Amino acid sequence: MYTRRLFQSSHHQWAWRAAFWKHIWCRPQGAHRRTHSRSSNYRAVIFDMGGVLIPSPGRVATEWEVQNHVPSGTILKALIAGGENGPWMKFMRGAITVEDFLQEFRRLCSEMSKTSVPVDSFFSLLTCEQVAKPFPVMTEAITQIRAKGLQTAVLSNNFYLPNGKSFLPLDRKQFDVVVESCIEGVCKPDPRIYKLCLERLGVQPSESIFLDDLTPNLKAAASLGIHILKVNDPETAVKELETLLGFALRIVVPNTRPVRKTMEIPKDSLEKYLKDMLGSQTTGPLELFQFDHGQSNPTYYIRLANHQLVLRKKPPGKLLPSAHAVEREFRIMKALANAGVPVPKVLDLCEDSSIIGTPFYLMEYCPGLIYKDPSLPGLEPSQRQAIYTAMNSVLCKIHSVDIKAVGLENYGKQGDYISRQVQTWIKQYRASETSTNPAMERLIEWLPLHIPEEQKTTVVHGDFRLDNLIFHPEKTEVLAVLDWELSTLGDPLVDVAFSCLAHYLPSDFPILRGLSDCDLTQLGIPTAEEYFRMYCLHMGLPPIENWNFYMAFSFFRVAAILQGVYKRSLTGQASSATAKQSGKVIEFTSNLAWDFAVKEGFRIFKKMPATKLLKRSYHTWASPQCLLNATGMRSYISFPDTSRANASKGALVISPEGLSQPVREQYCRLKRFMEQHVYPAEWELQRHQASVKRWTPSPLLEDLKEKAKAEGLWNLFLPLEIDPEKKYGAGLTNVEYAHLCELMGMSPYAPEIFNCSAPDTGNMELLVRYGTEEQKARWLMPLLEGKTRSCFAMTEPQVASSDATNIESSIREENGLYVINGHKWWISGLLDPRCQLCVFMGRTDPHAPRHQQQSVLLVPMDSPGIKIVRPLTVYGLEDAPGGHGEVLFDHVRVPKENMVLGPGRGFEIAQGRLGPGRIHHCMRLIGCSERALALMKARVKSRVAFGKPLVEQGTLLADIAQSRVEIEQARLLVLKAAHLMDVAGNKAAALDIAMIKMVAPSMAYRVIDRAIQAFGAAGLSSDYPLAQFSAGARALRFADGPDEVHRAAVAKMELKHCP
Ligand SMILES: Cc1cc2nc3c(=O)[nH]c(=O)nc-3n(C[C@H](O)[C@H](O)[C@H](O)COP(=O)(O)OP(=O)(O)OC[C@H]3O[C@@H](n4cnc5c(N)ncnc54)[C@H](O)[C@@H]3O)c2cc1C
Repeated sequence: MYTRRLFQSSHHQWAWRAAFWKHIWCRPQGAHRRTHSRSSNYRAVIFDMGGVLIPSPGRVATEWEVQNHVPSGTILKALIAGGENGPWMKFMRGAITVEDFLQEFRRLCSEMSKTSVPVDSFFSLLTCEQVAKPFPVMTEAITQIRAKGLQTAVLSNNFYLPNGKSFLPLDRKQFDVVVESCIEGVCKPDPRIYKLCLERLGVQPSESIFLDDLTPNLKAAASLGIHILKVNDPETAVKELETLLGFALRIVVPNTRPVRKTMEIPKDSLEKYLKDMLGSQTTGPLELFQFDHGQSNPTYYIRLANHQLVLRKKPPGKLLPSAHAVEREFRIMKALANAGVPVPKVLDLCEDSSIIGTPFYLMEYCPGLIYKDPSLPGLEPSQRQAIYTAMNSVLCKIHSVDIKAVGLENYGKQGDYISRQVQTWIKQYRASETSTNPAMERLIEWLPLHIPEEQKTTVVHGDFRLDNLIFHPEKTEVLAVLDWELSTLGDPLVDVAFSCLAHYLPSDFPILRGLSDCDLTQLGIPTAEEYFRMYCLHMGLPPIENWNFYMAFSFFRVAAILQGVYKRSLTGQASSATAKQSGKVIEFTSNLAWDFAVKEGFRIFKKMPATKLLKRSYHTWASPQCLLNATGMRSYISFPDTSRANASKGALVISPEGLSQPVREQYCRLKRFMEQHVYPAEWELQRHQASVKRWTPSPLLEDLKEKAKAEGLWNLFLPLEIDPEKKYGAGLTNVEYAHLCELMGMSPYAPEIFNCSAPDTGNMELLVRYGTEEQKARWLMPLLEGKTRSCFAMTEPQVASSDATNIESSIREENGLYVINGHKWWISGLLDPRCQLCVFMGRTDPHAPRHQQQSVLLVPMDSPGIKIVRPLTVYGLEDAPGGHGEVLFDHVRVPKENMVLGPGRGFEIAQGRLGPGRIHHCMRLIGCSERALALMKARVKSRVAFGKPLVEQGTLLADIAQSRVEIEQARLLVLKAAHLMDVAGNKAAALDIAMIKMVAPSMAYRVIDRAIQAFGAAGLSSDYPLAQFSAGARALRFADGPDEVHRAAVAKMELKHCP
């Protein structure tokens, strides 16, 4: 029948049906998947009626005799009395009327029982609607037989009713042929009636199966060659018929399976309970299956007579008083049904544990579709859209329920829901923690600090997901919302976020199938943002700004739940592979939660008004005062050659005293600013970097930037050579800047305060040098103003990126745009919420000569398809808020005008870009080494060990001397490289740039390391900047290309120039 309807229906309906079959029928475990056995040649199944399709007169009589105090067996004896010529058989052949039959039958029964027998009442019962009801199992079987293309027939010894019609309480449409003895004038077991039936069916005896409860009737059929099946009880008969036919005849209730041994419930007492509840007419055996879902509160499917029910109970064993509260589920579903929320109709709550061992409740079974796969395979995009819309609007319905009107005002505490939830899940997580999970630790700190200020209170489902909804099989209507176990009163947005979890999980996520790797637009599924917007629209709310908080909380909750499950699973039997897998899933989920927390942090920051800085009157870091002498001049050894000092260009200025007057003034201003504002702020800035707010820029630093700008200490890095009109920068030469930059290098926070920090400096220089006017207007100006930040994306995890020609990320031209795909990492500044520009290096033409394959594109950071994977750490330091990020570029589309210089020019640009940038790092490293040495000197003078100050220990003296020498050497080389860049250009300075890059980071690393050693353990702590300096210097042995690459370059150039 289904098949026929399928072909009659419209295309739209067909698609629905296809999905229906896919979801409901195409399940792996079902016997229903077996197809018609090839060896079975049956073409028809013939059913007797009484005793096969409906209760037999004999069985009806037994109960009736008890109720009417008629000696047991009277009716049966009277029915068979007289054989062919008895009143019953004559009545069956249609030879006598009902009245005649009843008269004769009454007489016969009374004679046999020696008492008056009210046969009319028996006849009424036999033919009444409640009793003469087809067995559901048979009705289902007939549907399945016909669906497989076989014919069905009724072959019944039947009779006429007083109204002149034959007694046929069946759906005639379910049978191709109906043969009734009262019409044909012939009764079973007369062979003629069988032949008649076969003839009308048009099948051979061997092509048919005949089911009857009476042996003589079966024998007659068998003697004709018909396959027979004796029916003692319909359930067993259907199972036997399934075996004969080779396909399933019973509708397997979707998502159920046989009850697990450990989950069995006492069937007898349940059956008795149900019969009492449903009424005495409820006959037939009780069938019980267990639903796949409902792990927490075991859930069963029950079939009893014509009733299909669902039973949900508490799990066995000792439970926490508030857990598994089936009473609450019963209560809320009852209340919500009255408010028009689609929920299964609840029937009864049984709190008496003696029935099945625990309290339980019953509800009506609601047939329909449960979509387990959120990508809704097999549906049209419009249908998917409709399903998600229906899901959204049913959620709105739940959240719009007037809790007072439906008596739910005390269903949960009102207000402060999120705080309570956060604390609950933190506690749960702590109770099941098995190892330290950094993301969870961060969230445990972060979540309580970011609780939304405004929270509404409504009914909250608590686990609102697509697979907790039952849909109508043919339209987008939610028939019922299931699983109210976690329901309460609370903030409705938690439900909205929870229903978007799948959006951020991959499709192979082991616990909940996800959508993150699906093209939602193509599928017609709303994105999470659209889903949130849709919700606001339905509810008449303004847009939800802090939904990242809700997502962070939801994933945190999932991670905490999974941690609990994981801990419970550590029974010793779980394989290490399983444990590892579970650990990964928890890590993944908690990282996702943290990603959302970071995004929320960015949002908050962007909305933040500029605030006044919090000043500290002291700091724990060693004062850099001791670096400078009373005149404010650096007291290092390379004293300047004053005769050449005023010439910034043409002569190498090796000390600040040699700088020209205005630059020297600038130097002094900068030094003062460092002393007055930067060093005192370090402690506070460092505290911010270690706080939960570290992924948002420090307001104090922002404030200092304003101050620096006001004092003209801004954009000092741009070399005069590329900005001769001082249009963009301060117009310093590389050498001049080297002296100022060294000062900035003394504090890790200084470069950004003066808008002179990497990677922005390199990117700004690139834009000044190569950018078009449009590119400059859009990207350079905001960077120069310090309003935005940028990153440079070259390095890739899968290739050795020290060789830029290896870069594999692709840049393809498509429909007038560039489409980029690639995987990058170690991208400094990527995570900064102000980062709006990514200078991207990728391959445009893999077939071009090796150095012309790469191109540089300007990619807006808000382009769809940019997926930040994680922040990386340098010896555990995150360098927040910019960080060093791993990132995926997934079909990121960029206008063609964002190409810098032109396709194939990437290698050339990268080389140009890294030139000055390298030298800046080196300049700063000198400053940082100076500070390390100054700290070291102060320390060793003030500490005594083994009877004398540390400074008097020979090894420390040697270390101090060694450090001074190395700093001086490196500084001279930095200055020489800068000088050459000024006077001869970057290209001519290539050897010196490579040499200083080779020298400076390792020199600084060694000097800092000696200082750390002199400090003792304190040197490794964050009380001093040494550990941070050390990590920075070590990283710089890679960050602009590894030392080895520079060594190789130096060697090559050396060999080239030597005879
Ligand atoms: C803190 C930090 C920040 C960074 N920021 C950025 C950024 O903003 N943008 C960006 O694109 N990248 C960035 N990087 C990445 C950096 O540029 C790369 O790490 C560097 O180019 C090396 O590439 P790789 O890591 O792939 O190492 P590989 O290329 O795999 O090299 C590994 C090792 O091989 C050896 N080696 C390589 N070449 C030679 C050779 N010719 N001779 C001898 N030995 C050799 C070296 O020992 C080298 O360290 C950053 C890195 C760090 C640590």
